Amino acid sequence: MTPDEYHFSLLLKTVRSLLGPEGCPWDQKQSTLSLKKYFIEEFAEVIEAIDKNDPENLCEELGDMLFLLILMAEINKKNGSFTLNDIIRNINEKMIRRHPHVFADGEKGSLEELEKQWRAIKSQEKEKKTN
Ligand code: MG
Repeated sequence: MTPDEYHFSLLLKTVRSLLGPEGCPWDQKQSTLSLKKYFIEEFAEVIEAIDKNDPENLCEELGDMLFLLILMAEINKKNGSFTLNDIIRNINEKMIRRHPHVFADGEKGSLEELEKQWRAIKSQEKEKKTN
């Protein structure tokens, strides 16, 4: 296991402990809707850290976001909506699909062509979803 994988698994364990039987009443009371305001707050703090060009603070604020994201995923797992695994699997598949010039035999065109390709794949995905 790499250090990234190890620390990610520790964070996941921490969130699961917070939501577990011996966990934290505040975390256990949260819902998708109640977490909305914290996502907005943390997003604003991320933006502020970027604007201040403060990498140390950005690192901390991205951590706050990551925690919220995992908490949101675990809450939705409890209510049967989706899991962290669904989120990770879906975004990974999406990124691979949208980069055929890296993961398939697509051509590495200019930046403009790559952006055009991205938009084309995105609209194909949207079409598939509505059909
Ligand atoms: Mg914060």
